[in-house]
Amino acid sequence: MSVKIPQEVISCSNFINGQWTKGENGSLEIRSPYNGKKIGEVSLPSQSQIKSALKSAEAAQKIWAATPMKERAQVLFNFRNILMREMDNISHLKSAESGKVFAEGKAGLMKGIEVLEFALSLQNMDIGGRMEVSRGVSCEYRRMPLGVVANITPFNFPAMVPMWTIPIALGLGNAYIWKPSDKTPLTSTAIANALKEAGLPDGLFTVLHGGSEVVDQIIDAPEVKAIGFVGSTKVAKIVYTRATALGKRALCMGGAKNHIVLLPDANPELAGTGISDSFTGCAGQRCMAASVLLAVGDVDKHVEKIMARASSLKLGTDMGAIITRAQRDFISAAIDRAEKAGAKVLLDGRKAQAPAGMEEGNWIGPTILDHVEPGTEAQQVELFGPVLSIIRCKDITHAMSIQNSSEYGNACSVFTNSGGAADRVIREAKAGMVGVNVGVPVPREPFSFGGIAASKFGSGDITGEHSLDFWSDVKKVTVKWEKQNDNNWMS
Ligand code: NAD
Repeated sequence: MSVKIPQEVISCSNFINGQWTKGENGSLEIRSPYNGKKIGEVSLPSQSQIKSALKSAEAAQKIWAATPMKERAQVLFNFRNILMREMDNISHLKSAESGKVFAEGKAGLMKGIEVLEFALSLQNMDIGGRMEVSRGVSCEYRRMPLGVVANITPFNFPAMVPMWTIPIALGLGNAYIWKPSDKTPLTSTAIANALKEAGLPDGLFTVLHGGSEVVDQIIDAPEVKAIGFVGSTKVAKIVYTRATALGKRALCMGGAKNHIVLLPDANPELAGTGISDSFTGCAGQRCMAASVLLAVGDVDKHVEKIMARASSLKLGTDMGAIITRAQRDFISAAIDRAEKAGAKVLLDGRKAQAPAGMEEGNWIGPTILDHVEPGTEAQQVELFGPVLSIIRCKDITHAMSIQNSSEYGNACSVFTNSGGAADRVIREAKAGMVGVNVGVPVPREPFSFGGIAASKFGSGDITGEHSLDFWSDVKKVTVKWEKQNDNNWMS
């Protein structure tokens, strides 16, 4: 299905205390990466509007924290049903603003709903725990919400990345402040409306638009107890440093440069599809995309399969557009530089034809560079586009030394039929998420999502079971009601 690009400009404002509130600090224009046309106008909040939003969130959270988790879960159940009902509308909107094709937009929302389903299971999980630790004495864990928490999200997954944290943070009893990407803010309208319709009390969910100045005010506000962030490594470091300097809890996911190790014994069909789909999916604009192929030994027949699949993709239907013209030009210039540095361009996306009627969009086709040198821009720098750099390696030791040289540590995969070789890559990869014969090793719930090294600042993960400690505190309670005669030291 082709993406429906809004024909009329969507007016988007800030969601404060359950009401759409026009910002008093100017506005931003949103243009679709598909055709460059203006599709949205977003009003930005003043400092006093942000202050008032945080005050309402703080007041609402006190009542929400005292609401039993099973009651909170009922709101999340309704939220899920509304998102399922609105699936196609939301998928069109998020695709139109981010450049994804419809199927990718839908898949992202489905993954967000999977996190929501995990949050629904919180009410049935033993997230507390109690034990008699000594005669007449019991110890107990009680999970406590933090209060008001905030999350800042990137452009590339306008619904999925926010949905990584919204249901878990709300389910655990917090109020949630969301600062969506200033490049893809429109989807936030659908999510806030769905939560309101689901019965979430006013004040618990806030949307504030803008850039760094809004983020700074949110981080600095005394009401905000924890800050989640997903975006580039450069900004992740800025946000992490500012929040932790104030003694606040922060978990900041950064960029990536994901390597795939390809061995000659790999199944060529599996490798061809998995590797091609990984570097071309979302036009390479995802933190789990394959970016460097470490080709060990003779894997030419596998590379032919990757080439065949990537070159068959049609822009606009199989592969989407790049978020901005400046980013498209950056990717194209990086390909020029790689070629100058000696790489052979096996597949060239620089002159790819735009889909009819979308000539003003930001298009670039799948690109494969062979004989890239380790240590060059094409191996080290996150290009965030549909570019695969092949580095020829003599053995696994060589391949792993290149993989380990990356500053990032999000994902790494290996394609092989050898259990021993796969296990070696799992052990030696500098990555938080590793795949075997899987091009995009995103863990499914309840397994957590999170990288290491320069792909994550802070501890724990952003989704799944390892995210619970970030969005809550655990109180340890020790109780005794009667004096015992045979007390021991712990009584
Ligand atoms: P970005 O870092 O430019 O922006 C992310 C968010 O930070 C946006 O909301 C933006 O408005 C805000 N922001 C920008 N500059 C800021 C500043 N100086 N201070 C405070 N806030 C600021 O990222 P992007 O271009 O929107 O997204 C792409 C990046 O996100 C890529 O690097 C990609 O790898 C990364 N990403 C990482 C993950 C992950 O889980 N590790 C997931 C998705 C995307």
